[in-house]
Amino acid sequence: MKALAVASECVPLIKTGGLADVVGALPGALAPFGVDMRVLLPAYSGLAARLREPRPATVPLGDGAEAQVIAGDCGGLSVLLVDAPALYDRPGGPYQNAAGQDWPDNDLRYAYLARVGAAIARRGLGGWRPDIVHAHDWQAGLTPVYLRHVEGGGPPVLMTIHNIAFQGVFPADRLAALGLPAEAMRTDGVEYWGGVGFLKGGLAYADRISTVSPTYARELTGPEFGMGLEGLLRHRGEDFCGILNGIDLAAWNPADDPALPARYAPDDMAGKAVNREALAARFGLTLRADAPLFVIVSRLTQQKGLDLLPAVLPALLERGACLAVLGAGEPALERQFAGAAAAHPGRVGVETAYDEPLSHLMQAGGDAILIPSRFEPCGLTQLYGQRYGAIPVVARTGGLADTVVDANVAGLRAGVATGVMHAPGSADALRQAIHTVCDLFADPPVWARMRANAMAAAVGWETAAAAYKALFADMLAGGRR
Ligand code: ADP
Repeated sequence: MKALAVASECVPLIKTGGLADVVGALPGALAPFGVDMRVLLPAYSGLAARLREPRPATVPLGDGAEAQVIAGDCGGLSVLLVDAPALYDRPGGPYQNAAGQDWPDNDLRYAYLARVGAAIARRGLGGWRPDIVHAHDWQAGLTPVYLRHVEGGGPPVLMTIHNIAFQGVFPADRLAALGLPAEAMRTDGVEYWGGVGFLKGGLAYADRISTVSPTYARELTGPEFGMGLEGLLRHRGEDFCGILNGIDLAAWNPADDPALPARYAPDDMAGKAVNREALAARFGLTLRADAPLFVIVSRLTQQKGLDLLPAVLPALLERGACLAVLGAGEPALERQFAGAAAAHPGRVGVETAYDEPLSHLMQAGGDAILIPSRFEPCGLTQLYGQRYGAIPVVARTGGLADTVVDANVAGLRAGVATGVMHAPGSADALRQAIHTVCDLFADPPVWARMRANAMAAAVGWETAAAAYKALFADMLAGGRR
């Protein structure tokens, strides 16, 4: 089976969040199931130079127009880059300039990605023609829309929602510039509150829809989390499912991680203590042996619930614990954490940066990782935390609820707990969770058991890959397009 993934980011080429990890891991996870998945991405600055054996190709778009694509390999992935320098070759991030403002032509940039994706889906590239299209998030949302309205049909499309908070909504008068006919502007088309909705269009036209955890799938059908798309998702009913993300067990392996000063494994945890010391040294922290080192690795946004931290920090410090934070994002939250570090030298340390190797050391050196998200489609840092023996302290929402076994009385008694859960959006609940972690940490046999459970948790891709393969097969058999 051949599958074309269409996405705006993909590890190891370009990453701003968990979407990139998932897009980058799925082809390798699906290969043993007989799926040949190639990933179509924009050729952002410098990306083409990182492909092995780059091969330029031309994709006809009709009316004599042509798109340029560069095919090649990167880290075992088969990648297709849409080579349109005027749209993608510029300094800054994929979605924003260096000042943090959205690129003003994001509609054209991601419409073009989807337009080229639809053309390749329909007619193939160099003799390779996909049986299935897998479109990720709003940036790829127009792929099934172009297939329907411009290409006149094509292979079935799975649209995956990684975060419904990002919807890609643009003014209605952009429709013609996007190359879409007026008939696409219907309530069962791209129309969304009077604008053009890229994700909305994708959800309306895709053959199937998935999101990245079963709990988030349920949450998305209600008004609290659906962000205006709950009615559509309820309407799609059985076409909509949740498939839990996994993590790349090779890239995230404490026994073989080049980013760590010391490697370790469940049967030999000495290295974890060395990493703990190294992390404390890096952040200038003075640790106590009987109190945990909490870490945070996160985009700093409202979604992640990190504005609750000031209210719970006094309790954390009273218990003798320390906190190390790696994160970047909203200026107010960056200031909040910088202020906490300045007020509590030796106890709270902050790096305002995006630093992939350091994110590995955070998981390896941390005793517990705080993830108090208000909503969390799947979340990856709690999975990395379990694999690295950093006990996840998570809000009971979305994929966090699906991937952590709470250290409540039953979980502890049965000896199956892998983390600590609390109600989302509540400082009191988070404070209580921090006390629970400190109590558990002070009981070494209980802590060691929990850490061993966490490190043994099945967090790889096998289950999800089998589920995607089954879904693709079902789509091919159903073939409603
Ligand atoms: P989201 O996609 O909402 O940001 P996820 O938990 O799904 O949340 O994925 C976040 C990914 O980004 C993880 O791989 C995490 O390690 C990484 N990450 C987040 N912030 C940073 C940072 N400041 N430095 C390095 N990696 C980060």
